[in-house]
Amino acid sequence: MKTCLILLSAGSGTRMGLNRNKVFFELSGKSVLRRSLEAFRDMVQEIILVHRPADKALILREVEKAGVTIPVHLVHGGETRQDSVRNGFRHLTWQADDIILIHDSARCLISADLVRRILEKAGQTGAAIPGIPVTNTIKKASPDQIISTVDRSTLYEAQTPQAIRADWLDRALVRAEADHFQGTDDASLLEHCGLPVSLVEGEKRNIKLTSREDIPMAEAFLSNLNLPRIGHGYDVHRFAENRKLILCGVDIPCEKGLLGHSDADVAAHALMDALLGAAALGDIGRLFPDTDPAYKGISSMILLKKVVSLLKENDFEIINADLTIIAQQPKLSPWIGRMVETLSKTMEIDPACLNVKATTTERLGFEGREEGISAHAVCLIRKITPFGRN
Ligand code: MG
Repeated sequence: MKTCLILLSAGSGTRMGLNRNKVFFELSGKSVLRRSLEAFRDMVQEIILVHRPADKALILREVEKAGVTIPVHLVHGGETRQDSVRNGFRHLTWQADDIILIHDSARCLISADLVRRILEKAGQTGAAIPGIPVTNTIKKASPDQIISTVDRSTLYEAQTPQAIRADWLDRALVRAEADHFQGTDDASLLEHCGLPVSLVEGEKRNIKLTSREDIPMAEAFLSNLNLPRIGHGYDVHRFAENRKLILCGVDIPCEKGLLGHSDADVAAHALMDALLGAAALGDIGRLFPDTDPAYKGISSMILLKKVVSLLKENDFEIINADLTIIAQQPKLSPWIGRMVETLSKTMEIDPACLNVKATTTERLGFEGREEGISAHAVCLIRKITPFGRN
């Protein structure tokens, strides 16, 4: 049994007043399509991406950005949503009990939890869709005259993803075509065939981006992801003869240097670990293993540049960083200005966002005995949003 996703991305941006497909609109630094792809990439084995022929190049770019490693097939959309689903489904090789998820790309705030619950329910019952209870009073009306009030206690707003057994979806699509039946969602085709559809509690945040007013709402749902993130890094290197002493990229005159696979810039190492920590991207040991000859003797400023690029690729920007170098000797205060300058140039950030300080340990501990130097770093970073900083 496999799980496949048909991702409907063939819409236009006209209702949002955009001159291009709304799936390319960026929310908090990522396109709507990329967000949808990221939500499903680890949950399914195959993706059918239904799109407009004119969008192909942009679609491929977003698939690449989303880091999808499972097969993605591009299929052209049809006249109606139902035609698009049919086109997508006809492209699949399926077995009866495979589960097909059908999702509107415009619902890009979908949570992994909801996808899991829908899949679990559909696995048990054959078909499941998310719905949220209607909370407004619903009136039946002619354009300007109320006819009656509808009992809302059994009314739900349907969302996607809708999960359906492959053989049921096949049956429903064939029957709808034969009967010239048009449904506004996939469950309605099953209902038309008399097939049961289970209801799973949907999510308020799983909104469908339709008009411009939906954008600030989507941003608000995403804003809790934009809280600043803190990171901490710590490193120690021992002194050794015949080595240079490099701290924050600055070559400091000293009779001893620090031992290490790279240039042993203990302060830069602590800073990189703080940045990676804040972004939840691991640590420098994992990124630049000291078993790799490529990093032998390498300047830590090259590594720092790589770390900063990695954060950028993940849509993070650096707010500030603060470093403490713990060394009994040499005296570092004359070099602090150059350290800040070197780091800020390498990281391409304002020097006012960076602080480097040095302290001794009053001759206590390994630093005090002049056996080595240690460094601590903390930093704050945040996700970039399309509306600037929040
Ligand atoms: Mg180190």
